Amino acid sequence: MSPRSRVAVVPVRDATLPAGSIDAARAADGHVILVGAGVRAAAESLSGVTARVSAWEAGSFAAGAWAEALAPEVSGSDIVVLPASPDGRDLAPRLAALLGRPVLAGAVAVRDDVVSTACLGGGVLADHLVTEPIVVTVQPGPGRDVLRGAVPEVEAIEPTTTTGTRDAVVVEVLPPDVTTMDLAESRRILGGGAGLDSAERFAELTAVATALGASMGATRVVTDRGWVAHSRQIGTTGVVVAPELYLAFGISGAVQHTAGLGDPDHVISINTDPHCPMMAMADLAVVADANATLEELASRLSEAADPRVDESAEVRADA
Ligand SMILES: Cc1cc2nc3c(=O)[nH]c(=O)nc-3n(C[C@H](O)[C@H](O)[C@H](O)COP(=O)(O)OP(=O)(O)OC[C@H]3O[C@@H](n4cnc5c(N)ncnc54)[C@H](O)[C@@H]3O)c2cc1C
Repeated sequence: MSPRSRVAVVPVRDATLPAGSIDAARAADGHVILVGAGVRAAAESLSGVTARVSAWEAGSFAAGAWAEALAPEVSGSDIVVLPASPDGRDLAPRLAALLGRPVLAGAVAVRDDVVSTACLGGGVLADHLVTEPIVVTVQPGPGRDVLRGAVPEVEAIEPTTTTGTRDAVVVEVLPPDVTTMDLAESRRILGGGAGLDSAERFAELTAVATALGASMGATRVVTDRGWVAHSRQIGTTGVVVAPELYLAFGISGAVQHTAGLGDPDHVISINTDPHCPMMAMADLAVVADANATLEELASRLSEAADPRVDESAEVRADA
């Protein structure tokens, strides 16, 4: 069968590509349309992935209008790929509806005529033969690549927009709430494993994470116990994340967990076993009880946040 033509559509906010963009660009053999705010600067993040991108400086996210404008641009491609980011998941079905195609959501690989999705808890890959034009969303892959190569050339495009489409109006963009945001988008994560002793401990982990501007994540052992929601599970059958900082509390570092960790710039591990894989991959390996360490952190952070402590510090300074 002849190779299917393909194109990636990547929604951009604030000149930043969402998680999964590089996977989408690769799945589309480097044929990329960037759309949104700050597309020219965002194109630099595709250095080494593609030589040339089409870019539409379209402003704030408007799924309906963008889908209408982009549908004619991508209708000639058999496979239209979008990152499975919140905006990508919003835009994909609208494009598919306008193009009269099915959507295959959450693919983990797109090769030739085959799109693979993970099923049965991630233990099995299902291969779907592409026999008709399709829209696909792709999950961010494990590992954040260090991209090298020339910055792609940017070809500005301006598809015809319609006035008939009604989109939600963006009134204000608030910073994400670290306790509820998509883990895949979190830059700092505090992860907890079976070394933490209770569900209550995970509430403490969440509080400490929030105080540090980080999100809480967990291993499968913990989500299987029902101590935290599955949406917080990091790994091959959970969320694939790409944080800059990862703190692992009582996590052994099984491959199914670390394969979903990306390539954090800094890893700190607290574990009673100095020889487990998580300690081996840590920049700072602390051999200690993770529960006691977390308690101490929580108490120091609450002291730091307590104005009375500041007052006494001033008194001491004056004395
Ligand atoms: C098909 C399949 C898919 C899977 N998908 C995932 C997935 O997506 N994500 C995932 O995480 N796992 C996944 N798993 C499970 C994975 O194999 C491991 O079992 C799991 O990651 C281990 O979690 P853990 O590190 O919390 O627990 P354990 O492996 O039991 O490790 C607990 C760690 O805590 C340490 N510890 C114990 N007490 C303390 C203490 N008081 N203080 C400090 N440290 C302490 C121990 O030394 C140990 O290192 C999958 C497995 C399969 C078969």
